[in-house]
Amino acid sequence: MDLFKKTAFELHNLLKEKSVSAEEICKSVFSKINEVEDKVKSYVTLTEDLALKKAKEVDEKIKNDEEISPLSGIPIAIKDNMCTKGILTTCSSKILSNYIPIYSSTVVERLFEQDVVMVGKTNMDEFAMGSSTENSSFGPTRNPVDLGRVPGGSSGGSAAAVAADEAIIALGSDTGGSIRQPAALCGVVGMKPTYGLVSRYGLVAFASSLDQIGPITKDVTDCAILLNHIVGYDSKDSTSIKTEAPDYTKALVNNVKGLRIGVPKELMAEGIQPEVKSAVENALKVLSEAGACVEETTLPHSDYALSAYYIIAPAEASSNLARFDGVRYGYRTKESDDIIEMYKKTRSEGFGKEVKRRIMLGTYALSAGYYEAYYGQAQKIRTLIIDDFNKAFEKFDVLIFPTSPTVAFKIGERVSDPLQMYLSDVCTIPVNLAGLPGISIPCGKADNLPIGLQIIGKSLNEETILKVAYTFEQNFSLKA
Ligand code: GLN
Repeated sequence: MDLFKKTAFELHNLLKEKSVSAEEICKSVFSKINEVEDKVKSYVTLTEDLALKKAKEVDEKIKNDEEISPLSGIPIAIKDNMCTKGILTTCSSKILSNYIPIYSSTVVERLFEQDVVMVGKTNMDEFAMGSSTENSSFGPTRNPVDLGRVPGGSSGGSAAAVAADEAIIALGSDTGGSIRQPAALCGVVGMKPTYGLVSRYGLVAFASSLDQIGPITKDVTDCAILLNHIVGYDSKDSTSIKTEAPDYTKALVNNVKGLRIGVPKELMAEGIQPEVKSAVENALKVLSEAGACVEETTLPHSDYALSAYYIIAPAEASSNLARFDGVRYGYRTKESDDIIEMYKKTRSEGFGKEVKRRIMLGTYALSAGYYEAYYGQAQKIRTLIIDDFNKAFEKFDVLIFPTSPTVAFKIGERVSDPLQMYLSDVCTIPVNLAGLPGISIPCGKADNLPIGLQIIGKSLNEETILKVAYTFEQNFSLKA
């Protein structure tokens, strides 16, 4: 039995029936890793011994007829920007290449309480800056669907791991699209929850007003299950929302009757690859046949989202990354005459090109004299974008558009042109600026390369987007 192919939901049932053991599941996933990891390179660190130990503990519990959680014994991959106590956490950066945290992030702790089996830490764009996982200082991850192409980014390692069956489920982080875009490009499900729903404590900060952790899974059911176990208030994160989270699996119903879907015309216009556009149109047809009302709408300021994001995100990053100075964390330059030279050399040697570009941009945008012209202006745009969404949601329950304007591009194709790379996120960035929940699910292929459908909901309305995603998944696979 190829256990690595199964979903968390299926494996949980097999574990409960005692027809497989957690150890067998774990070994199956590692056999797949041994087979493909050389080519795909999803991981920075593998934690096989720890995983097997945990799996055996779960088997003991099952043997003793103890209650197990839906995630007990399920192999999970964690993006390498989430702190894991005693386990290397690099953010795919040279500057953290030797950093072993003394604590775990809240999400990781919550998952460990559920007895997940952590397979390893996944590769990413350095400090989550990028859309292709080519900005990793440990080399790129490749798209398992086509090894000559990128898996998307920055959570490319997590998306590739799930798509290649090197993990059953995974966690990513999304600041401007980094969960949804790689999920789309690898043909898996990825969700960015509402800003503040999942604790960011122990997530190495990129842009704190945008960052959010979320699930990457093989299907919508697993997405709801994983979400159930990472949400919830955390006093250690001052932006954490105090809310009673529902059981998201209750939203897994095949019913969109009377549901109002808005399709923003700006995000279905030029720049969207024709095959992507027609796959999304086809998905809308599937949903309207299932009873939803589909109508065109508008997000008039979405054209400015990218520009605003590339001021706000680098501004916050330049401040967040000031802590990596060779004193407190990770790498320090070998030789220096004084402390200023030590800072300079450490940061010059430790950070990659894209990270330096963002620090320069952000510092410039925040400098006296330019602050109002750039940062102040970008914040105003952000408010206009939030207003656009609020207006659209007066009339619609969800908004639907592509996740990525194109399918996976070739490795190397956009590295030398940062603006081209930034354009990969035109459809995802507005959602982060507004702090809204969004999911990307597979909705077809162009030349065998996966296409992602993006479904956006009102704040804290994860249930509605899960319902729409689930309905689409059921009706689409029936047709396929
Ligand atoms: N690609 C975008 C960027 O480079 C988004 C990254 C992310 O969501 N972490 O900033």
